[in-house]
Amino acid sequence: MSAADYEAYRRDVFDFLWNELEPRASEIERHGAFPRESLFPKFAEHGLFGLLVPREFGGIGLSARQYLPFLAEFSKVSGVVRVLLHVHNTSARAVAHFGTDEQKASLLPSIATGASSMTFAITEPNSGTGLDVGATATRDGDAWVLNGTKHYITNAEFADLHLVFCRTGSAGDREGFTALVVPTDTPGFTIEEMPEMMGNNGPYHGVLRFENARVAIDSLAGAEGDGLNVFLGELEPSRVFVAASSLGTAERALEIALDFSKRRVTFGRAIAERPSVQSELAEMARDVYALRLVLEDVADKLDRGEPCAIEASIAKLLGLETVMRVTDKALDVVGGRAYFADYPYPLERLYREARINALEEGTPSIQRLVMARALLKEDAPLSLATLGTPYQPEGTDPALGKNPPQDLSYAGPLNERPSSPCDARDLTHQPALRTGAASCAIRSLQRRVYVCAGSGGTRRMRRRRTLLLGALAELALVIAFVQLGSAIQADVARAGGGPAECRS
Ligand SMILES: Cc1cc2nc3c(=O)[nH]c(=O)nc-3n(C[C@H](O)[C@H](O)[C@H](O)COP(=O)(O)OP(=O)(O)OC[C@H]3O[C@@H](n4cnc5c(N)ncnc54)[C@H](O)[C@@H]3O)c2cc1C
Repeated sequence: MSAADYEAYRRDVFDFLWNELEPRASEIERHGAFPRESLFPKFAEHGLFGLLVPREFGGIGLSARQYLPFLAEFSKVSGVVRVLLHVHNTSARAVAHFGTDEQKASLLPSIATGASSMTFAITEPNSGTGLDVGATATRDGDAWVLNGTKHYITNAEFADLHLVFCRTGSAGDREGFTALVVPTDTPGFTIEEMPEMMGNNGPYHGVLRFENARVAIDSLAGAEGDGLNVFLGELEPSRVFVAASSLGTAERALEIALDFSKRRVTFGRAIAERPSVQSELAEMARDVYALRLVLEDVADKLDRGEPCAIEASIAKLLGLETVMRVTDKALDVVGGRAYFADYPYPLERLYREARINALEEGTPSIQRLVMARALLKEDAPLSLATLGTPYQPEGTDPALGKNPPQDLSYAGPLNERPSSPCDARDLTHQPALRTGAASCAIRSLQRRVYVCAGSGGTRRMRRRRTLLLGALAELALVIAFVQLGSAIQADVARAGGGPAECRS
């Protein structure tokens, strides 16, 4: 897709989201019943079911970088729609990546139009965070016989296919883990609705029960024993997709806080003029910006096909922390109104909707675990130098400027660490620090002169005094710097170029 086509498509979809969906978003979420009859045809019309389906199978075929802004916009408008389309498109991506040629040809065209949809079913009542899956599939003639229970499964209400992860070998055996594509109408397969959730209520989440459900032998996604590859292969991008969802919600919360702060007047002034409110807004913007940059980096890596499990976990965790902090701050800025639904902003809904981002694709503890393991790996530890490489100018060494490995082993007990040549007490003797400290002192003196000059007497007298004393202070500053410069030169010459061993 050319840049111009992408932009035109994006505009078309975003217009639809804001003009037709946003006005209904709170009502949909409040009632928990998703108007499939009216909305699914519109989603299909705008290609939203096929965002990640390759074009040859009738989809839009977006890259990760192109897809993330869509997820962010869904989140801004409606968490329900974001969850629905995120799971649909991620499952479609799994078929596109791991399905056989026959599966791609038979499943993807109808998935791309929304005529068909697939859940992603791994979690069980006794296995959430872990991969100690209890569901089993055993061969019986021309079928797999599937037994087990999955719960929390998104889109269970309307999906006609389910990507079910189960054991085809012994527990603990990586190759004994397999993914099967199971149709809803399989005998022995039933679906129950789960209780109402904290947010994102729309199509219900289901409990999938398999009791001797017979599934065709060619229903494997990938090959037998490929389940872990399929699962991890989708988990990585999906974590990034959840992070993009966090970005969207955080952006909307910031926009709401900005808008409100300019309109709300207390004691005759907009609260946006208050330093405490400005500081909240500034910190929100900082968080949003940082998340956006991390997402750009990891999206590029996904599109280049580079492994980026660590970056995906970092993005997922940063996204969650960002959206929680930013929505919370937005609630602070908006005050009591934010505690009420749509009064006038949907902040209360956004806050509830964002909380799911902690659970999808692994809890925060698990993201930390993934990162820590990579950092501490014995044979090939994560190289911090490769994080964020797109900002490394082309042709430069990514390791340059990073701390060289140091020998941190000490012969004696740890509390007798030998004093380093850069002992903290010596730092005050370094010329650069002395220059900094001296200029700070002079600047502070100068500020005081301005304050004294500006107080007492008539306005005119104060202005004249300020100008005169200000000019004298500037002159003093120049003289002081010239003298300090000579002193430093002498210092440096005496020390023979300074303590070189402290320069790293
Ligand atoms: C609304 C919703 C939709 C969902 N949709 C789907 C779906 O479509 N498909 C699907 O398969 N799943 C789905 N899930 C499940 C989701 O992926 C899990 O909730 C998540 O992986 C956590 O599993 P759990 O809830 O069983 O928590 P648990 O595994 O019971 O964990 C509870 C706590 O213990 C911590 N913990 C557990 N084990 C460890 C460990 N080894 N080390 C450190 N800490 C640990 C966790 O971090 C967490 O804080 C959904 C969940 C929700 C809430």
